[in-house]
Amino acid sequence: MKKDRRDVQRKAEDSELKQEAVKNKKINVPPNFIRNIIIDDVKKGKHGGRVHTRFPPEPNGYLHIGHAKSICLNFGMAEEFNGLCNLRFDDTNPIKEEEEYIRSIQEDVRWLGFDWEDRLYFASDYFQQLYDWAVQLVGDGKAYVDDLSADEIREYRGTLTESGRESPYRNRSVEENMDLFQRMKAGEFKNGERVLRAKIDMSSGNLNMRDPVMYRILHAAHPRTGNEWCIYPMYDWAHGQSDSIEGITHSLCTLEFEDHRPLYNWFIEQLGVHAPQQIEFARLDLTHTILSKRKLLRLVREKLVDGWDDPRMPTISGLRRRGYTPESIRDFCERIGVAKSNSVVDISLLEHCLREDLNKRSPRVMAVLRPLKVIISNYPQAKVEDLEAENNPEDPTAGTRKIPFSREIFIEQDDFREDPPRKYFRLAPGREVRLKHAYIVKCEKVVKDGNTGEIRELHCTYDPGTRSGSAPDGRKVKGTLHWVSASHAIQAEIRLYDYLFIKADPNDVPDGMDFVFNINPNSLEIVQGMVEPGLADAGRGDRFQFLRNGYFCVDTKDSTRENLVFNRTVTLRDTWAKIEKKIS
Ligand code: ATP
Ligand code: MG
Repeated sequence: MKKDRRDVQRKAEDSELKQEAVKNKKINVPPNFIRNIIIDDVKKGKHGGRVHTRFPPEPNGYLHIGHAKSICLNFGMAEEFNGLCNLRFDDTNPIKEEEEYIRSIQEDVRWLGFDWEDRLYFASDYFQQLYDWAVQLVGDGKAYVDDLSADEIREYRGTLTESGRESPYRNRSVEENMDLFQRMKAGEFKNGERVLRAKIDMSSGNLNMRDPVMYRILHAAHPRTGNEWCIYPMYDWAHGQSDSIEGITHSLCTLEFEDHRPLYNWFIEQLGVHAPQQIEFARLDLTHTILSKRKLLRLVREKLVDGWDDPRMPTISGLRRRGYTPESIRDFCERIGVAKSNSVVDISLLEHCLREDLNKRSPRVMAVLRPLKVIISNYPQAKVEDLEAENNPEDPTAGTRKIPFSREIFIEQDDFREDPPRKYFRLAPGREVRLKHAYIVKCEKVVKDGNTGEIRELHCTYDPGTRSGSAPDGRKVKGTLHWVSASHAIQAEIRLYDYLFIKADPNDVPDGMDFVFNINPNSLEIVQGMVEPGLADAGRGDRFQFLRNGYFCVDTKDSTRENLVFNRTVTLRDTWAKIEKKIS
């Protein structure tokens, strides 16, 4: 924990310079009010100049892009100020927690690029300390055992406009409370029979201060502590004290905990222990996306998606399987900034960050999603040419590769129109187009199925003098199509994803309906495409740009050498760029 004070100070000054530059509009870093608070704290030597944060997930589901915002903020601030960030599981509720979640959460945080080193903690590690502190509060007359039922407690609590009433058990003696609390722990009572409550103020304007419950009886095994406990601390009792035990300096959490802060401070004051400083920020909300673990769990349970890592899910594991890079997610989290008021972020910004990153790193290849056979009638029967193709125009070091060209190729069905509309520059009867990396071809004949009238194949001729370059006679050809050689291409299953929810706000539903109503019935379309032969060696998770079609990656679960499966990560069309243009 001992970091050089001067080093931290220097980092704070760097950050301050950055903020100054933002203010003067010299650099484009989005505002982050938490960074400003920390700069100030470090300068004043608050918390001894230390910065120590934590990311505290409840292991009751998979992490989603909203959690990524919190992860980037907590680990990011620690990194920026030479501090530390813990990973702590808030595992106070034994019923909803599963090992699967604990494993996936660690995998996801690591994949995002963060490291908690040896600081992996569990709130359940602190059960004994929390119990001892509760005993201390009982001894000080600041906590009592209540026999009211959960419903009665709710009723006695009052409302925002109406003061609460004191429980008839509120004034039990310290001795009686001590005896009953110990017997609660010893397992003498049934679930729900008694609770331990803090003795604060039933008339407080803040409902959280009206004698909140600290412990409940729950005869349930805990994944980590087994049957050691039959009383479990409530989140509000465990959370602040866990932060205190770990010496957290800046306890960053989302806005809904603002009203809990006085309670957390009260506990810390009564106990006289290290006081972390809680700062609340707005949670991330994204268009076309649900970011509630409860609702995501429902999608999984009701098999409305194919598990937590379905590529349409906003979970980190879903985004990873979809082909997102950790860099793009971190970039997104930086760009949205950190503010004090809730707002909805357009999902096209996330896609924009993704495209920017994929554009730099993805090799370009050719793949035809919906193949239409083209026979080049003047090209020799058995001839095969290996044509040179650049791998990535954005990256000169990416080099080139050879792709086979032959008499029979596939192009996209979409790239041919028998009756082309105006401004359609692709293939049509009598028209010419360029085949990428190859020749100019001209459509001579359309062959149809005698019964259905469907187009079966096209017959074209090619101009041998036009290989990779303009035509020698200078004639202009507007359209350039991607293609694959029919006898060399390999078949692949290609999964085309769209938003899981039709509406920008999935919760905008008619009366009596819920978010499931807005599920997009066309969020997944599967096609059997043909891809260039080099992709036979593609490994799970490899990312490519399919020319003109978008960014794709090899599915990490279902793809095999014999049966390649690609996920469409994102299309090439960038709606965010357009939005930005309009704004500026
Ligand atoms: P949910 O509402 O989906 O159940 P949660 O807040 O209960 O989520 P936790 O596991 O308690 O989930 O979250 C761990 C941390 O991530 C908390 O500090 C929480 O504030 C933060 N977090 C959760 N959702 C978001 C979000 N959408 N944006 C930013 N931070 C979030
Ligand atoms: Mg929570």
